[in-house]
Order: sequence, then C-alpha cells, then structure tokens
Amino acid sequence: MTENLSTQLEKYLPPPVLALAKIAGKEAGELGQELYIVGGVVRDLFLGRVNFDFDLVVEGDAINLARKLAKGSQAKLTVHSRFGTAKITYPGFSLDLATARSETYSKPGALPTVKPGSLKDDLIRRDFSINAMALHLNPQRFGELIDLYHGKDDLNNRLIRILHPKSFIDDATRILRAIRYEQRLGFKLEAETEKLLRHDVAMLDTISSDRIRHELELILKEDEPERAIRRAEETGVLSQLHPSLKGNGWLSKIFAGARQVDMRISLSTIYLCLFIYNLTEKENEEFILYLNFPKSSAQAMRQTLQLKAQIHSLSNPKLKPSDIYQSLHSYTTIAIQANALASQSPIASQHLHLHLTKLRYVKPLLNGDDLKRMGIPAGRQIGEALNTLHKARLNGEVKTRRDEERLVQNWRHSQ
Ligand code: ATP
Ligand code: MG
Repeated sequence: MTENLSTQLEKYLPPPVLALAKIAGKEAGELGQELYIVGGVVRDLFLGRVNFDFDLVVEGDAINLARKLAKGSQAKLTVHSRFGTAKITYPGFSLDLATARSETYSKPGALPTVKPGSLKDDLIRRDFSINAMALHLNPQRFGELIDLYHGKDDLNNRLIRILHPKSFIDDATRILRAIRYEQRLGFKLEAETEKLLRHDVAMLDTISSDRIRHELELILKEDEPERAIRRAEETGVLSQLHPSLKGNGWLSKIFAGARQVDMRISLSTIYLCLFIYNLTEKENEEFILYLNFPKSSAQAMRQTLQLKAQIHSLSNPKLKPSDIYQSLHSYTTIAIQANALASQSPIASQHLHLHLTKLRYVKPLLNGDDLKRMGIPAGRQIGEALNTLHKARLNGEVKTRRDEERLVQNWRHSQ
C-alpha cells in the first residue's frame, strides 16, 4: 500500500511553504508534469526534524514551472538553464526546483554528465537510501511516498546505506557525507556500506580540494563535529586527509569545551584550529595546501600554531598584564581562543583568557588630544606617553583621569 504523508506535510512545513507546495503541484499538473519534494526534507519529515532545504524535482521542465510560480509574486527567480534548475527566493525561505535528471560518471570523482530523466533516474543518483525518498505534490496524489530504495526501512533500522556498490567510487565525497549523517542521527553504516567505505577510502584522492574541504566544513558545522571526526579516524578516512590528524578523546574534550565558551567568533573556525592543533607547522602547511583553505582560515590555523610555539613564555606566573598584552596583541582572537582551550598549561590558559576577556579592551582615559593640550609635543613623544599610560592602566597602576595626568607629568619630567 502506498503511504501518504500529507498529514506530516501539513504539520511540519511552514504554512507559506505548504501553500506554495500545493500551488506548485497544481500548476505542474496543469502543465502535464509530475512534481515531487525530495531528499533531506523527506528524511527529516519522518524524523520530526526541522529542515529548511525545500528541494523540488519536476518530471518535465523545472525552469518553466518556476517561471510560472514566480510570476506576479514578489519572489526573486534565479535560473540556471545549463543545469535545468531554478531557485525562487521568497522573504524568509527559498525553493529549489530541478528538472529530474540522470547522471553518468565518466571517471571516478569527475563531475557527472547530466541529462533529463525520470524521478527514478533522479533518485538512483543520490547518496543514501534515507536521502532518496520523494513525496508527490500533484493534487490527486499529494503526500504520496515514493521510496524505491527502502529508505523508510533504513530510517526505522537507523542505517546509512548507499544505493549501489560503485557509489563511493563515483563520488567519494559520499564517504564524508555517510559519516556525517551517521553521527548526526546516531545511526550506523549498514554493514556492506561500511565495508565499501573502508575499501574505497583512497578514492578521496580523486576529489578536488574544494569539494573535500566543503564536506569537512559541513562536518565542522554539525552540533558535535567530534563524533564524525572520531568515526573518520576509525574508518581510515582521517589519515587519508593527513596521516597525522587525530580524532581521539582529547579532541572530543576540547571541542566540548569550545561549545561552553560564549564567543562572538565562528565556532567552526575554532574547531578547525583545534582540529590541526597537534600537527607540526610543516604538516599544517601540507594540509592547507591539500584542501586549498581560503586565506582567512589558513591564517587562523597558522597563527594558532605560531602562538602554540610561544606558549612556554606565557606560562610564567610572574607575568604582568602588560607583558601578556605585549605577547598577544598581534594575534587574532581565534588563535588566542584556540590556544586558551587547548593549551596544556593552566597558567598560560589563564593568561590567554585574561587577555580575551579584559586586557584587549583596556584603553587609557586620556587620548592624544588631551596630551597635546597638556603640552606634550606631537609625534614620537605622544606615542611614547600613550604607551606608558596604556601599560600603567593594564597593570592597574592608574585609576582616575587625575592619576593619568599625574603619570604623564612625571613621565615628562623624567624625559
Ligand atoms: P542536510 O541536512 O545535511 O542539508 P540534505 O539531505 O538536505 O541534508 P544536501 O547536501 O542539502 O543534503 O543535499 C540535498 C540532497 O541532494 C540530498 O538529500 C541527497 O539526496 C542529494 N545529494 C547531495 N549530495 C550528494 C552527493 N554527493 N551524491 C549524491 N546525492 C547527493
Ligand atoms: Mg540540505
């Protein structure tokens, strides 16, 4: 018997999306086309999880349907004629429409050759059974489940299963995706899938740097990335990325610690810096090159290790706040935060925290104009006086404006 999920659609889709799905289904029907909602959103509908990726597949012409839908509304339409896809952006959400297609891979890791096809073709090209379910949106069949690869059974049995034995060879990014979903959902890789994954790990080398990095970034955006990283180590995936990378208990503890800190910086960049924390600077460079990290990430990773190399000088309990400031002011917040979390030395960690929470915000009350008014000659002398003030303020040697003025006068007489 065909299962119908219209109740779940009504319950879990945000009302404007539901309304649009219905209109889209009706319009598709009028054009003589079949329309489906597919992929992660169907999986998450069964799991009762929120998903705002609304992927629609049309047996027919997605662009034509998208034009019809967007017409007369305020939505923004973006069309990719080469791929037969369109995106309609409404305030607050967007719909992706794709023409159902079949894919063939000329060689492992190559981008696929694509041509229009049926829903069945479109589903077999997908990564895992749980991501290969579709729901009909045409009015007479609204909510009907199409589950050609037993995704529903795998969801119930909590399994990640590829759709055919060559899947990881065709597209090795699926190796990282498999581990990500397994750990996100608390599922298991199905036995044959796990065997093939371990066997095909070397196929990661057929994938471009940018695509592998993108998958790693997706892992680092998960709620608990350390789970997938640990699993990646267990299955030999991590050492394929770099032989010195580790996903052990230390990393889990430090990642959990990172989540406790209230940071205004991106957590996934901190994770990345912690992920490479035990690489040497040379290994880090190899990793940066291999995955072609953008400048900003590469800089954070490098600085993290540069600061780590200096950490002994910060473990001296006798350091004054101004010494700490002096050692740290040229480092990015991310590098300091990563070291504060990962450093073995509790004193160094304390100093790093002190800098992050207090020292970096300390400023003298007097500014250059005030000093000029007090008769300090412009140029080098003002710079030096401000420096002296800044140091004294860091070390708590001045409190009031009056204290600062006194200090400047004394400094001047000592010149
Ligand atoms: P997430 O919650 O991680 O976004 P998702 O299922 O929405 O999960 P997307 O990466 O947004 O995942 O991709 C949408 C759909 O496209 C997937 O559900 C899957 O069917 C298909 N897909 C994505 N990447 C691949 C791939 N490398 N190989 C095959 N199918 C893929
Ligand atoms: Mg998605």
